[in-house]
Amino acid sequence: MPRYKILTWGCQMNEEDSEQMSLYLQERGYEPAEQVEDADVVLLNTCSVRRKPEDKVFSTLGHLRQLKQRKPQMVIGVCGCMAQLRADEIRQKAPFVDMIVGTAHVAQVGALLEEAIQKRRLAMRLDLPERKGAIVTDIPERKVDRVPKLKAFVPIQYGCDKFCTFCIVPTTRGRERSRPTADIVEEARRLAERGTKEITLLGQTVNSYGKNLLEGRVPFARLLKLLSDIDGIERIRFTSPYPRDFRDDLISAIAELPKVMEHVHLPLQSGDNDILKAMRRLYTVEQFEEIVGKLRERVPNIAITTDIIVGFPGETDEQFENTLRVVERIRFDGAFMFAYSPRPGTPAAQMENQVPRAVKQERLQRLIELQNRITCEINSAQVGRVFEVLVEGPSQKDPTKLAGFTRENKMMHFVGGRELAGQIVRVRADEAHLWGFYGTVV
Ligand code: SF4
Repeated sequence: MPRYKILTWGCQMNEEDSEQMSLYLQERGYEPAEQVEDADVVLLNTCSVRRKPEDKVFSTLGHLRQLKQRKPQMVIGVCGCMAQLRADEIRQKAPFVDMIVGTAHVAQVGALLEEAIQKRRLAMRLDLPERKGAIVTDIPERKVDRVPKLKAFVPIQYGCDKFCTFCIVPTTRGRERSRPTADIVEEARRLAERGTKEITLLGQTVNSYGKNLLEGRVPFARLLKLLSDIDGIERIRFTSPYPRDFRDDLISAIAELPKVMEHVHLPLQSGDNDILKAMRRLYTVEQFEEIVGKLRERVPNIAITTDIIVGFPGETDEQFENTLRVVERIRFDGAFMFAYSPRPGTPAAQMENQVPRAVKQERLQRLIELQNRITCEINSAQVGRVFEVLVEGPSQKDPTKLAGFTRENKMMHFVGGRELAGQIVRVRADEAHLWGFYGTVV
């Protein structure tokens, strides 16, 4: 049987796309290979959000070129955001690539592979769906009968309409399109039948879900209710919401639906209003803090995490200090923190007042130190508390222990029998760390 290997960079949406491509290849008789060296087809599912993964893709292509010289029948494909954005450059720098699969053509991966093999020439599909009028019908096809798993991602929305000045996603993934509600509910129902207990709803601005649907507007909070009604689904998460669209009905849904977990990942990006404006983020620090305040008031013990970029063009020392002050005030449970990386084709990359690399690195270091201290303090204050944990199986850190996540999305390691895997158990936190807790089953 021919074998394939998919290498994935980037976000959960990319992981999800890789799983879909895997299913489409298996449908055509391919089986997974352990390593690229053993594969007949190698797909690189790429990310363009930062520069590092793009560099890594080109260095991986260099390695694949050597493999292909020894094994000329090997098919090499590039998929994902970088394929969408830099197809010409890929063709020029890596003419041995056999297929380029745009972000909207995951379901066509099998057909493109066949075309590349039969015609012995580059097979490529890059067009993005246009949004014609108010209603969106061009939603990617999906395989919903998936391999059984405890936790699954469910995309509910594709593309983005927000156009933040630092972000390339609206160009690589197109305009915002919501999946029909009935399709999402059906997919979740089938996942539950195969044993999935936790679903994570995916979208670039997941809480703006539900516009432009044939069946009329379906608020995100309503979708959460419909999914909560499915037997077998025990936990619902979503990522990432956009602050401006975080309405009171969503806060009520988190507060009132027991299956919706007490964790919100809400990207702040900057703690300075002028920088937020330059980023074209459509909210102020005050509005952001108001949402956090309401969430904490309505949902006791909620964990709130965030994304922050430092060194955005023009960010002064004082503006950076504003970010530190907001982080001190809000006290996030955790954060993904980055130094700004200019993405060609975005407005921010054209801005003249770029911050020197050394300054960005220094700011990033200070922010990380502050956030790590806060995370440790928050976790330490919870020692002794009993958490509900969905047990995933042996811990990768220490296989003598089990690992799982709390409702608040904190990692818990504890001693227990393998038979607990897949179950929801109560675990007392005994010892706190930056990454989570060691605990004991109670
Ligand atoms: S909301 Fe902004 S950062 Fe997020 S995907 Fe859309 S454009 Fe990019």
